Amino acid sequence: MSSKLQAPRGTFDVLPADAPARQTVEDASKRILEAAGYRRIETPAFESTELFARGVGEATDIVQKEMFSFEGFSLRPEGTAPVCRAYLDHGMHKLPQPVKLWYLGPYFRHERPQAGRYRQFWQVGAEAIGSDDPSVDAEIIVLLQALLDELGARELRLRIASLGTPASRAGYREVLQAYLREHAGELSAETRERIDLNPLRAFDAKDPGTQRVMDDAPRLADHLDDDDREHFAQVTDLLARAGVEWEHDDRLVRGLDYYTRTIFEFTSDALGAQSGVGGGGRYDGLMEQLGGPATPGCGFAAGVERMLLASEARPQPAASCDLFLAWESSERADAFALATEARRAGLAAQLDLAGRSIKGQMKQADRTGARYVAILYPDGTVLRDMDSGQEEKVERPGVVAGVLKGRHAL
Ligand code: ATP
Ligand code: MG
Repeated sequence: MSSKLQAPRGTFDVLPADAPARQTVEDASKRILEAAGYRRIETPAFESTELFARGVGEATDIVQKEMFSFEGFSLRPEGTAPVCRAYLDHGMHKLPQPVKLWYLGPYFRHERPQAGRYRQFWQVGAEAIGSDDPSVDAEIIVLLQALLDELGARELRLRIASLGTPASRAGYREVLQAYLREHAGELSAETRERIDLNPLRAFDAKDPGTQRVMDDAPRLADHLDDDDREHFAQVTDLLARAGVEWEHDDRLVRGLDYYTRTIFEFTSDALGAQSGVGGGGRYDGLMEQLGGPATPGCGFAAGVERMLLASEARPQPAASCDLFLAWESSERADAFALATEARRAGLAAQLDLAGRSIKGQMKQADRTGARYVAILYPDGTVLRDMDSGQEEKVERPGVVAGVLKGRHAL
């Protein structure tokens, strides 16, 4: 006998029992984002590898080690670069700006599978492209907060920082590199290797030696220019006006190169090591990286599985069944026709598909939560009201009308 095949490590099946909770994420996202004028976009599950090399950044962990790549393409590890590519591809700069888009779909990263960390996971995201106004940054944060609140995410914390512009960041990068070289002996090997390529990542290091060094490291916040500082102050003022609580965290690093100015992350203390539920920021330099004209943008992405893990499980309403058709073996064709007629009339209808005895079919009807059962015998038809237990003899052509009438009377 051949061995049993299993799903790849780090992937999961969405079973029928899991689907309703995930549907609430989609429904809430749609309601909240579309009410704010965001319209849905979906891009392909794979793109040219170069899009991510340029858009996410050669030096990032995502591009260096987390992409599934084949024949010049990569399964998308994130959604912002693809949405910006689509903005350019479809000439969306001709639309009123900012263009506000949202998306929901699967993303892929080749990382070590753990609780809350998968190789295929889902993200919901929103992007507002074409304006550098601080109200855009604040809106993006407020909308993600609204979504997390709606889903009941617990013990949330919002951390915010400003990364400044590429120019102020470049100056700071050199200062930080000099500091890291000075303390090279106390750093982890991994951090040491990244001094040239990605020194900011040192703030994210998990090993205590590096963390001690980073406690006293020069901070980007002290290297921002006046415009960046002013922009950040306006974003946080708007958040205060919206009643959003946040902490300034000048050690916040995000795993993508494209961010400028505002960056933020929501974490949940109800989660273990994988505590990030969603984050994002402003990416004013990204469009140029992709070969387009300078175009500012800002967005968020949140992990569907992490949001659900952070939320209290809520009971989901069972699917309804208005009519169950039970039949003796000679009556199958009539039962099938009646089920079709009922569905065309807008009823939720099921029929026995397993050749059960009438007794077995009544049990099955009970399991489906059927409101009415029509039992088709060779010599007549009985309609049973499952709530009252009352049965009456009916004409077959009147079954659907009878259920519609009964449902109406409820
Ligand atoms: P982490 O620090 O957990 O690696 P990240 O900074 O790489 O997260 P982002 O790139 O900002 O994450 O992606 C946005 C959100 O997508 C995260 O906050 C998280 O909820 C979710 N996410 C990212 N990677 C994974 C994964 N491998 N499995 C499940 N969810 C993920
Ligand atoms: Mg990551």
